[in-house]
Amino acid sequence: MALIVQKFGGTSVGSVERIEQVAAKVKKFRDNGDDIVVVVSAMSGETNRLIDLAKQISDQPVPRELDVMVSTGEQVTIALLAMALIKVGVPAVSYTGNQVRIHTDSAHGKARILQIDAQNIRRDLEAGRVVVVAGFQGVDEQGNITTLGRGGSDTTGVALAAALKADECQIYTDVDGVYTTDPRVVAKAQRLDRITFEEMLEMASLGSKVLQIRAVEFAGKYSVPLRVLHSFQEGPGTLITLDEEDSMEQPIISGIAFNRDEAKLTIRGVPDTPGVAFKILGPISSANVEVDMIVQNVAHDNTTDFTFTVHRNDYQNGLQILESTAREIGAREVIGDTDIAKVSIVGVGMRSHAGVASRMFEALAKENINIQMISTSEIKVSVVIEEKYLELAVRALHTAFELDAPAGTAE
Ligand code: ADP
Ligand code: ASP
Ligand code: MG
Repeated sequence: MALIVQKFGGTSVGSVERIEQVAAKVKKFRDNGDDIVVVVSAMSGETNRLIDLAKQISDQPVPRELDVMVSTGEQVTIALLAMALIKVGVPAVSYTGNQVRIHTDSAHGKARILQIDAQNIRRDLEAGRVVVVAGFQGVDEQGNITTLGRGGSDTTGVALAAALKADECQIYTDVDGVYTTDPRVVAKAQRLDRITFEEMLEMASLGSKVLQIRAVEFAGKYSVPLRVLHSFQEGPGTLITLDEEDSMEQPIISGIAFNRDEAKLTIRGVPDTPGVAFKILGPISSANVEVDMIVQNVAHDNTTDFTFTVHRNDYQNGLQILESTAREIGAREVIGDTDIAKVSIVGVGMRSHAGVASRMFEALAKENINIQMISTSEIKVSVVIEEKYLELAVRALHTAFELDAPAGTAE
């Protein structure tokens, strides 16, 4: 008998019929004798609908109140799923994050889980009940409702699995595993049987939303066996694992991630003196704007150009700050661009292969795609390109790194 935490995403609980299908699935596991804790998201589209409502009142809704509201999406699905389970004869009880209690810090909209009291859940499991927990939410020290950031139900699932020392955390979604890239963009993408935590962390942080990055961090830190599976199709899914396969057999690239959420800011003609990077980025970081890629050009005429990327939500704010910095330090001009996208190739196999970046650049050059920025780490290479070429770039790289599924395969 195993203890399994099963998380079902928004489309998997997107209608009453689907919730009943989920209940039937959970019942099967119960009938096998397993103890089950289920974590659910809000019905698909619901979180967006709630955020839109708030935005009709204010462009920047008060974060505490926004959390009070967006957390209700998950409260609806836990109750519906518990009802559906009870209807098919499975004793079940639902809990909000506050009722569990899932303690978080007070960073509304991006709260971190600090600790979970699992006594209630353990007591219910011992009494033979399935426990249904609302994903994406917690409570801070003052009793305020918090949320964990978009896609945060994954993190609730993994954190509960860690707290309960579950045998496995299963993330059920609308694809049958983690693919070499988003299968909705590249039809020839292939499902991976396994992927290392390290690679999954990079993929998640570089834009693959199949798992929220914090969920992967948690799973790695607490060694939670983690698997991504299709909610309504049978199959082995993808196991996220600690061990790397023999690097000789390792493909060079395991996956391609992309992200349309960034924007680029450039300050031109900056007097090239020591401390200039700090003068530019200091005010940006004081305003809590996170910077991703940075490029500083070689100076000529004693001035330099400095470019960096930020989240698109921070673009206007970043632009204003940079314009005021430009006036202060006597820079020539500030320009911005929101029509960019970041494409990244990821793979632990890069460690043992040379020339990976140039192979990437060659594939992009063949398609006439201009590279605006580059950054590398031990297991990834990222480039910023014009957004309109994103899908073409991802497909070209998928082919160039021999990731395409062989013709005629089902996947
Ligand atoms: P859920 O609502 O179940 O949490 P998400 O929409 O958050 O589902 O995540 C699943 C989606 O992630 C898939 O529908 C797919 O389009 C997308 N995705 C992006 N990159 C990948 C990838 N490498 N492998 C699989 N799915 C991916
Ligand atoms: N409902 C939340 C969202 O849409 C959390 C989740 O689905 O994981 O982001
Ligand atoms: Mg998700």
